[in-house]
Amino acid sequence: MSKEKYVYAFKEGKKDMKMLLGGKGANLAEMTSLGIPVPQGFIITTHACAQYYREGKKMPAGMMEQVKGNIRELEKEMGAKLGDTESPLLVSVRSGAAVSMPGMMDTVLNLGLNDTTVQGIIKKTGNERFAWDSYRRFINMFGDVVMEVEHKHFEEQLSKIKETKGVEFDTELDASDLNKVVAAYKDVVRKHTGKGFPTDAFEQLEMAIEAVFSSWNSKRAIVYRRLNNITGLEGTAVSVQVMVFGNMGESSGTGVCFTRNPSTGENKFYGEYLMNAQGEDVVAGIRTPRPIAELHKQMPQAYEELVKIRSRLEHHFRDMQDIEFTIQEKKLYILQTRNGKRTAHAALKIGVDMVEEKLITQKEALLRVDPNQLNQLLHKQLDSVAVKEAEAIAKGLPASPGAAVGTAVFSSERAHELAQKKEKVILVRVETSPEDIEGMHASQGILTARGGMTSHAAVVARGMGKCCVAGCSDIIINEEAGEFFAGSVTIKEGEWITLDGTTGAVYAGQIPVVDPTISGDFGTFMAWADKARRLGVRTNADTPKDSKKAREFGAEGIGLCRTEHMFFEGDRIKAVREMILADSLEGRRAALDKILPYQKEDFKAIFGVMDGLPVKIRTLDPPLHEFLPKEEKDIRELSASMSVPVKKLRETINALHEFNPMLGHRGCRLGITYPEITEMQTRAIIEAAIEVKLEEGKEVIPEIMIPLVGHVKEFAHQKEIVDRTARGVMEEKGVTITYEVGTMIEIPRAALTADEIAPIADFFSFGTNDLTQMTCGFSRDDSGKFLPGYVDMGIYAVEPFQSLDQSGVGLLMKICVEKARAAKKGISLGICGEHGGDPASVEFAHRIGLDYVSCSPFRVPIARLAAAQAAIKEGI
Ligand code: ADP
Ligand code: MG
Ligand code: MG
Repeated sequence: MSKEKYVYAFKEGKKDMKMLLGGKGANLAEMTSLGIPVPQGFIITTHACAQYYREGKKMPAGMMEQVKGNIRELEKEMGAKLGDTESPLLVSVRSGAAVSMPGMMDTVLNLGLNDTTVQGIIKKTGNERFAWDSYRRFINMFGDVVMEVEHKHFEEQLSKIKETKGVEFDTELDASDLNKVVAAYKDVVRKHTGKGFPTDAFEQLEMAIEAVFSSWNSKRAIVYRRLNNITGLEGTAVSVQVMVFGNMGESSGTGVCFTRNPSTGENKFYGEYLMNAQGEDVVAGIRTPRPIAELHKQMPQAYEELVKIRSRLEHHFRDMQDIEFTIQEKKLYILQTRNGKRTAHAALKIGVDMVEEKLITQKEALLRVDPNQLNQLLHKQLDSVAVKEAEAIAKGLPASPGAAVGTAVFSSERAHELAQKKEKVILVRVETSPEDIEGMHASQGILTARGGMTSHAAVVARGMGKCCVAGCSDIIINEEAGEFFAGSVTIKEGEWITLDGTTGAVYAGQIPVVDPTISGDFGTFMAWADKARRLGVRTNADTPKDSKKAREFGAEGIGLCRTEHMFFEGDRIKAVREMILADSLEGRRAALDKILPYQKEDFKAIFGVMDGLPVKIRTLDPPLHEFLPKEEKDIRELSASMSVPVKKLRETINALHEFNPMLGHRGCRLGITYPEITEMQTRAIIEAAIEVKLEEGKEVIPEIMIPLVGHVKEFAHQKEIVDRTARGVMEEKGVTITYEVGTMIEIPRAALTADEIAPIADFFSFGTNDLTQMTCGFSRDDSGKFLPGYVDMGIYAVEPFQSLDQSGVGLLMKICVEKARAAKKGISLGICGEHGGDPASVEFAHRIGLDYVSCSPFRVPIARLAAAQAAIKEGI
């Protein structure tokens, strides 16, 4: 039998043992060695949990003996014994994996109580109310977590007894009331399980440990890990810890605090507490907690000590901490510390401030912010002008900043359902619980009637980067009827509301939102990122408006300008259709002549905005049928303007139909069949560049990009047309400009023959969407039917259209890069396509030595940070 050490006393651990002891356990151990007042205990390892699952849900052999040994040690230290009638020891059994998953797994408090030990507690403390209060909490938690009796059954009984007595809060119940609650709870357990409540303390302990192991694979824990991409963990650790009591009366209490404001990042002590309360009371929104500053008046000594510990822990862990504490008869105990979750806004402010305070380096600050989190800052804020005119119908706590506009829904299921139909909803709940995770994820924002700044809704929303207004007591929710009231206003399910998570205001209707800008801490932070990165960052933009936005977000050029998007606007589509349906070269040329001025104007506008930065323009790419009319009315109209009979027109349209357009007549294949299209586009580009140079004095560097090349001869063919046309235009105008011609790499054959193409190309740009389609053999439009299942089964770790498949598609890219550079040393290499804005793909692009990535304007800052992180990580 293996002699694996499954149990570590707090004294034996330290903070970098998170993988083995879980985040909570490792930090409890670390705080113990720092001399911070932590109730003593021990940790059962994540290995033990993994072993439990490996053996088909059986407790690992020898583990409980080690637990017993550690309990004996605790008993010696505390002068109390588990299950003892005179001096009973009570413990908590707590979950905690290496990565924190707040509220996802289970905790049991006050373990060790039964009908005789409760008398022992009464004798020892002389506090009868406290003893019964602890006992009823224990039966409720143990019943819920271990014996799977739903919490609401206990809640019902508690409400009944409160009603009979005519009181609102459980703090108003006295010892004899709570004694009745205990009796009622025991009946609940018997009724729902057919068994009595276990009385043996050690048996209770073993059952609770097993329940925590099981909670690792509860549905909500699995969903949480999926939503947060938490993979590669073995299981949860279990901490067993001596109880301290916040429910001993008015000189006891419990609370949660953050060393800095997790919403704004302000360096100000922040938190909430409740007197005469235990465990999750603060978070669960049972009573509305008080702001931490008030503790200063109520209990100056404990407060002063807490303030000292705040600074001590922050300096020690060198990051903003989220701390849980309990005060037992004026004595402070710390029960948990971890790096606090924060909004993107707070993350940047804290990073910048901590660098200024010389607590961390710029590089550390850069590494700490998840690039995807920047998304929060790049999306909507309420339009300040519109806000001035609107009148709020209610005001709650500004729990998580940003703006949210959506229709009201009152259950998580409904939120999820509507989000699947791409509808924008706002989840309105009295309070949220871990069961609401999926619904919160599906919503634009969350509005709760109860709970504070550290309530479940607030914490989870900040973690998700979602706007949240919490504890909005101005509203009254009628969940059954699907409506809420705010003063005289009634909002029914399906009606629009707007939330401002920065002020806590709630509005009826839809308030316009505006784009944000990069300034202040965000600006400082992004400047550090630019200094650290090697990879260039460009944008995919087809319009002057997008180009401008992208420049504001720091794009250093355009990596992909799709010309076909310009074909759809206004009257242009008519000319495009004439061009496609013309049956002679003359007809096509005539139509192209109509398109040319439009294209030229578009390019001029974009060149003007980009003002000297490189602009990559892709020649026509999509299959032609995408441009053709489908409606009878449009076909008739076209037939009249082209003077071609409707019947003939329809025949041509049918002839252009393709079975698999993705692999059909598209990309450079169009320019090869119809060279006049490439000629027209080249002319438009070069003329636009010349005119911008002459009229605005702006130097433009157009880069003409040929799509879907698979064979070097295809590229050579198109390049010859581009060069000949460009030369012609420059001679005509008597002006020379510098331009480049290169190709997209999106067909595996092109990647494999890169050494043949590179010598005649100025650049390659990986079109990773098509390259993924063709390398994996997935159609992007059809793979939705099976790819999500593939990811759930772990066949692909992530969907290859979202994050580059590094070992497959990535390998092909690596081969291509090596061959290209060997054939032509200075060839410019980049990525365009949505992968260019995915942090993991950006890091890969850095590693294989590309020159730049290109992504949509709103992903530009994300790519800049991801590129900086890639460079920093490489240097470490
Ligand atoms: P979670 O992971 O959901 O935060 P915890 O294990 O931190 O769960 O437990 C929740 C709360 O229970 C803690 O914040 C603390 O208030 C209370 N608690 C846990 N252990 C003890 C203990 N030994 N003494 C007093 N309170 C405890
Ligand atoms: Mg909890
Ligand atoms: Mg906790």
